[in-house]
Amino acid sequence: MKLTRRTTFSSGHRYWLEDRTPEENRRLFGRWASPYNHGHDYALEATVEGPVNPQTGMVINIKDVDAILHNRIVEKFNLKSINDEVPEFKTLPPSLENLASFIWNKLSDWPGDIQLSRVCLYETPALFTDVTMQGGELKVTLTRVYEFCASHRLHSPDLSENENREVFGKCNNPHGHGHNYELEVTVCGPIDPVTGMMADLEKIDHVVDAEVVDRYDHKHLNIDLPELSGLIPTTEIMTRVIWKRLVGKLPAKLERIMLRETARSSFEYAGEDE
Ligand SMILES: [Zn+2]
Ligand SMILES: [Zn+2]
Repeated sequence: MKLTRRTTFSSGHRYWLEDRTPEENRRLFGRWASPYNHGHDYALEATVEGPVNPQTGMVINIKDVDAILHNRIVEKFNLKSINDEVPEFKTLPPSLENLASFIWNKLSDWPGDIQLSRVCLYETPALFTDVTMQGGELKVTLTRVYEFCASHRLHSPDLSENENREVFGKCNNPHGHGHNYELEVTVCGPIDPVTGMMADLEKIDHVVDAEVVDRYDHKHLNIDLPELSGLIPTTEIMTRVIWKRLVGKLPAKLERIMLRETARSSFEYAGEDE
């Protein structure tokens, strides 16, 4: 049984290496380079797994989870300047990847048969990192969240008008309808020891904006996009098309994409059909 508990802390940090010149810092950290702090309201989700205790009906008492998260993490980071007040980050860049790996190590011991299963750290609602253990090694992924609005019509030329209405219902409306799509792009790769980062976020944004967001935003998917010509723009098909547009173009390995069409439905793809 797995359980996930969420907590939050607010911290300041900066991307600026004292032993490098300002030019080098700007080259390494791009628009995030500054000798002055900025801050985030971080959200941390910790997932643990273990057997359900037959006496309590719980894996672990939430009060105990909260105490562990507070004592080992929140107290260490909350309302602090990470570079100046968390000794481990005096020389280690306080990137999201380094912070999440550090938090994983701090949370690796749990009482009884309980084991840490996943650490997910949000720097903003549109940027988070996941840490899991896979094959005895830490696996760190970085996920960026994007939005675009587009209209479409679900209609198959292989089906009769009646069959189309039967299969697609309201989504077969001849004049279409639209969604605010939410796209999660997850990448994975080695972490640069100098910057603490897996990939340049500006480069990821640049590729995803050019290949997906700017291309699909405020468009009619059946009409405006050559790559969708002759395809039914279901979210499944869209997810596969977006994967093809991104794979091999990002500054880190594309691990997974998730496309949310409505608050009630989302689709994940990791290149399984390629
Ligand atoms: Zn920051
Ligand atoms: Zn739709």
